[in-house]
Amino acid sequence: MIPPPTTPSTETTLLHYPWIVVRFRCHYCERAGDSRLAALAARYGMNTTLGELLDIFVGRCPWNPHSPLRKPQKYGMKCGAYCPDIGRSGPPDLPPAMGGLTLIDGGKAELLPAERRAKPARRRVGGDGS
Ligand SMILES: [Zn+2]
Repeated sequence: MIPPPTTPSTETTLLHYPWIVVRFRCHYCERAGDSRLAALAARYGMNTTLGELLDIFVGRCPWNPHSPLRKPQKYGMKCGAYCPDIGRSGPPDLPPAMGGLTLIDGGKAELLPAERRAKPARRRVGGDGS
């Protein structure tokens, strides 16, 4: 049985993560990573939590507070890694190239009667079309 969609937290395992892409961001080093859920599960195991994956992400950050290359700094900068989708209750907005075609609210039903000609339906096209 598929559990109902949950709001992800750092305790959420990949098995229960509700969306296809897991996004990682850092406040300081501007690193960013979007990983496919299936790829993460295949590599790290489906019982890996988002918090553990964040630790892995932090480990590759130049501001990693646990790096042996850095001296301990009580007030120094630390990695600001986070998952923008933790705490989010709806699916993340995907870049068009990853999201494919999507339905946009409105269209024909929203045309006003006074309008003479039908406007072409708005659509979102993935990628740059090349
Ligand atoms: Zn960082």
